[in-house]
Amino acid sequence: MRILVLEDERQLARHITQALVRHGHSATAQFDGLAGLKEALEHPPDLIVLDLNLPGLEGLSVLAGLREADSAARVLILTARGEVEHRVKGLKAGADDYMAKPFSMDELVARIEALGRRGATPTAADLLEVGDLHMDVHHRRVSRAGRAIALSPREFDVLQLLMQEPGRVFSRTELCERVWQRDHEYDTRTVEIFITRLRKKVDSGFPAPLIHTLRAIGYTIRPPE
Ligand code: CA
Repeated sequence: MRILVLEDERQLARHITQALVRHGHSATAQFDGLAGLKEALEHPPDLIVLDLNLPGLEGLSVLAGLREADSAARVLILTARGEVEHRVKGLKAGADDYMAKPFSMDELVARIEALGRRGATPTAADLLEVGDLHMDVHHRRVSRAGRAIALSPREFDVLQLLMQEPGRVFSRTELCERVWQRDHEYDTRTVEIFITRLRKKVDSGFPAPLIHTLRAIGYTIRPPE
């Protein structure tokens, strides 16, 4: 994978790029948010490791700039421990995963590789359909009633899982394990944020919602009755 590391703590940035290169990736670092955004738009990477507290342009603004430009890059944000609100804001703004500092380099590399795998695996059933919602898995395109819907890579992954089995109820735990590929402790808030984001993009403006919450059980997608 081609990975861009946006981190102004130079020693940390160097450690991250070195670890990624050791794992066979190509990795470069930028220490300034504005320079990083420019680099990401000119030479689109597969994935961006994004520190939130950056000089030049702060991480959340970099993220907004990427999503505005329809960048397909996956984004993993780095937050200082305890900055729960920042993490929530980052996920709402279109990040795909996050890690709190300090972190183990092995875990960071594992998370990055898990994010990469999600995009690399084509499924046999490339065209999914639920009501008037259509997904082309291979080209990673989604539309409802003929109108294209722009999704972040992780939003796409969550929706794909739901659409592969319409009517089946997925618990938060299962969604988290299958999409985030983590079997250790996780944060249910993350799944809720992604479902909220998807609802806004998929269902808002339509009389019949497709995504449904079963209180205390989980989520499902199904065509209108
Ligand atoms: Ca920083």
